[in-house]
Amino acid sequence: MRIDVMTGSVEFQRLPKTVVPRHYALYLHPDLVGLTFTGHVICDLEVKSQCSTIVCNSAELEVTDVTVTDANGVTQRPTVELSAELETLTCRLQQPLAPGAAQMRLKFAAPLTDKMRGLYRCKYTSPCGEERFAAATQFEATDARRCFPCWDEPALKATFDITLVAPRDRVALSNMPVSREEEYPRRPELRVVHFATTPIMSTYIIACVVGEFDHIETTSDNVCIRVYTPLGKGEMGRFALDCAAKILPYYKGYFGSAYPLPKLDLIAIPDFASGAMENWGLVTFRETCILVDPVNTSTARRQFCAQVVGHELAHMWFGNLVTMEWWTHLWLNEGYAEFAMYLSTDYLFPHYKIWMQFVSECYMGALATDSLRTSHPIEVPVSNPSEVDEIFDGISYDKGACVIRMLHEFLGHEAFKRGMNLYLKRHQFGNTFTEDLWAALEESSGRPVRDVMSTWTRQTGYPVVRVSERREGTTRIITASQRRCLADGKPDADDQMWMVPLSFSSSQSPSETIHKVILSERTTEVRLENIGPDDWVKLNPGAVGFYRVQYPPEMLEQFKSAIATKVMPALDRNSLVDDLFALVQAGDSSTVDFLRLARSFVDEDEFTVWSCLLSSLRRLWPLLQHTEMLEPFHAYCRQLLRTIHKRLGWQQREGEGHMTTLLRPMVIAHLVSFNDQPTLAEAERLFRAHQEGTGTLHADLRSAAYRAVLKRGGKAEFDMMLKLYREAEMLEEKNRIAHALGSIPDPELLTSVLEFALSDEVRAQESVFVMISVSANRLGHELTWDFYKRNCQILCDRYKGRLLAQLVKSLTEDFTTEERALEVEQFFVEHPHPGAERSILQSLETIRLNAAWLQRDRQALSEYLAQCQ
Ligand SMILES: [Zn+2]
Repeated sequence: MRIDVMTGSVEFQRLPKTVVPRHYALYLHPDLVGLTFTGHVICDLEVKSQCSTIVCNSAELEVTDVTVTDANGVTQRPTVELSAELETLTCRLQQPLAPGAAQMRLKFAAPLTDKMRGLYRCKYTSPCGEERFAAATQFEATDARRCFPCWDEPALKATFDITLVAPRDRVALSNMPVSREEEYPRRPELRVVHFATTPIMSTYIIACVVGEFDHIETTSDNVCIRVYTPLGKGEMGRFALDCAAKILPYYKGYFGSAYPLPKLDLIAIPDFASGAMENWGLVTFRETCILVDPVNTSTARRQFCAQVVGHELAHMWFGNLVTMEWWTHLWLNEGYAEFAMYLSTDYLFPHYKIWMQFVSECYMGALATDSLRTSHPIEVPVSNPSEVDEIFDGISYDKGACVIRMLHEFLGHEAFKRGMNLYLKRHQFGNTFTEDLWAALEESSGRPVRDVMSTWTRQTGYPVVRVSERREGTTRIITASQRRCLADGKPDADDQMWMVPLSFSSSQSPSETIHKVILSERTTEVRLENIGPDDWVKLNPGAVGFYRVQYPPEMLEQFKSAIATKVMPALDRNSLVDDLFALVQAGDSSTVDFLRLARSFVDEDEFTVWSCLLSSLRRLWPLLQHTEMLEPFHAYCRQLLRTIHKRLGWQQREGEGHMTTLLRPMVIAHLVSFNDQPTLAEAERLFRAHQEGTGTLHADLRSAAYRAVLKRGGKAEFDMMLKLYREAEMLEEKNRIAHALGSIPDPELLTSVLEFALSDEVRAQESVFVMISVSANRLGHELTWDFYKRNCQILCDRYKGRLLAQLVKSLTEDFTTEERALEVEQFFVEHPHPGAERSILQSLETIRLNAAWLQRDRQALSEYLAQCQ
């Protein structure tokens, strides 16, 4: 392999610790018309040992007027070197500094770019139709240095006095409340806003915003909470405000300490690269992750907003108050916030049954990604800044949350909570390593947390546990052995082992754990007493352990009636399906066997089980999309969904459960994908009625309906959708339309969708998903990859980091031949993508898995699908 994850021509080093910051006085003046910013910073330093150089971070800034003053008040002007490659600023002093206090002053300036990092500009349209700019910040992971020179590492915490210059009529916000305001000298249209001193904190959670916003507010636990929205949309912040007001006291109880700042602002930012960012006291969001409209927001989106607020607010303690020492421990921040988000959502909305959704939302995806050879350990060594961005991935977030959930179950709720409280109290305002959390949990529980957990956080992958059983009277003897679970099914050369918390349930009480043991060797034997001759025994009830289970055929056979009668709990049915499908991918079982088993789910009515089944079927789609099997496969899928679709119908019913409300649009959307003609026709009828004002199309069904209209349509429908896009006020609605455009069955129009994606009409963070939607169309797959190759330079400049990695992965991983793998590989060798290397490697691995899979099962699959029709 010629693409190497560890690129970077200069060896990376962390900043020297001889001089560290204690306090910054930061003055920022963004010019929203000239689109530049200027500022100055006075940084109080502590000199730890005598030195004649000071090194901090700075990137893409013009730095001037640097002076350094020692404790005796002697000021010198050092020689200054800026390294674009290392992103550092080095001051070489004529007179060495003695240990003690010192102060560095400097001025800086830079353009206000549209790159969505550092201090950047966001475009919006004012109510009178004028195009204007706001300024906002996004510093995580390493972009504070693009706004002001600083010690931009999470462990180098300091306090901050921030001052913003803003037009008189604009909102100016930062982490802390305003302490005083004054007129800007000789410029009455401007004002100078001073904010109160922050607690000691890391640079990556500093934030500033200047722009036009409305807000609504409330008080919870003596904290003023505000949600800032675009002008005229204040009420769309109500749902998030209510969630935040309830979550703060909940977390106070759970974490054992009050929210540490006097105010909390949540703000919707027009151009925003990620979902949300946990800046302390000023949490920034993409509009679609915080704005909820009672009529036009879908049920799934509304739930998602509650989850995002829960995730970000957990960071106020976990991440902001106690911070990882280095990016290697990022998972601790993200995995834990993800876990806490489920806790808080469950508290706010018990009827969401969010812990069940955890399995389909989080757990299954993490198992799939982590079975690739190109996955990485949760604790991943990180050096160059370009590598940091790429670990904000499914492993840090989802696998992180899964292993924390497994640990929570292993220790029990009370011991786990006591350990978390101890950890937060012991390390508040400080920095931690992963081991610090294990130490606190070990103290609170008396269990061997460190030994168990390090096998999960320091190794790539997870085990598949193979079981077999034999009987001695009413004793069932289960033999369980572990080996690494790999997507290609081949043995692992590394011979890894995990400390696996095994748990068992049986048909006597399907939702109870009857036995627990830790599998710490390669193989173990477990004796279960009082098991009847017809009873089944299942491992990992509730899908809590982060492992798969492989059963022998006779054990699987015993489950069948429990699946059909739904005696087996939903999450167990769910994990059986998911584990079986993984065996299919690995070549240990056949795709046809899986499709046969899936048919026993026709009467299924649980959202999570369907979610799992359908994601397995979607996984087959790229294999079949360019073969003669596609239509028979669609027919098979339509048949599978017929009963549940009939049961659910098109309209929400009074009193139905939240999960049923989520299941309906999922079923309809899939029937649209599988070209079910009656569904396409009805979806279009509802759409037309909605347009004509003779009926309503529920927000939950709009995505599917827009795709249905476009699938059946041509240029006229395409133009109509574009018109609706232009008229839509809500970003959520715009996105629904934009993501549907890729469904049009016309290569020429698909090309115009790709051009549209890169036009001014689509916000930069959204265009990636529009391109992905074209690629998901059989007719657009090749087109989009060609388009990417032609526009690679523009796209690389536009989307450094996560979005770029997501884009290249989505556009390439559905190929199914070795020739394609070689072509993709060659392209990225010739066009290096720093920060997306791991995603490219994962894509290549997936293409090769697809190729082997298709070759292996093609014949049998083709015969099976032909006789299904
Ligand atoms: Zn987070």
